[in-house]
Amino acid sequence: MSTAVFPGTFDPITNGHIDIAQRAAALFDHLVVAVYAHPIKTLLFTPDERLKLAQEALEGWPNVTVETYDGLTVDMARKKGAKAIIRGLRVVGDFEFEFQMALMNRTLAPEVESVCLLTSKEYYFLSSSIVKEVAKLNGNISELVPPHVVTALDEKITELGEEAGDRIKIITMRD
Ligand code: ADP
Repeated sequence: MSTAVFPGTFDPITNGHIDIAQRAAALFDHLVVAVYAHPIKTLLFTPDERLKLAQEALEGWPNVTVETYDGLTVDMARKKGAKAIIRGLRVVGDFEFEFQMALMNRTLAPEVESVCLLTSKEYYFLSSSIVKEVAKLNGNISELVPPHVVTALDEKITELGEEAGDRIKIITMRD
């Protein structure tokens, strides 16, 4: 059985992630969407919340499971018996980072291949960061994330109040 892992922070999962996960799930027998629990960057949702949002988004896909992990992605991939690490490639900016990471991962685990899937054209601009930004400014994000993620973002931003500003960087919509 061929297994692949799709690692990321998924803060929160977007339609761009879902598209990559579904396309990867068509290429492998089993896909593990692996939610990185404690990255260095400041996140909006807890590991458990990110896990649950991703699980609900992908529950219709029988060969996809979602779990959290810490530590090296290649160690998690080995534990799962995965032969590939899936990543999504958007605009030019992603490439340099993914290239560096793929080469380092290959150095650490030569038997695990990195497979980059190109974004679909309707999602090339889409990132968790921009979704959080737009949600914080009360913009419509219903085309960008599933309905349960829209609700979770609304609730989280309301719950955090002023503090949401520290957890969501408003970069693109500043003016
Ligand atoms: P990370 O912090 O590891 O980049 P993300 O949750 O931001 O985690 O992204 C996980 C993966 O999904 C990355 O490979 C990223 O390039 C990819 N990805 C995110 N958004 C999109 C999108 N709109 N289209 C294609 N790939 C995407």
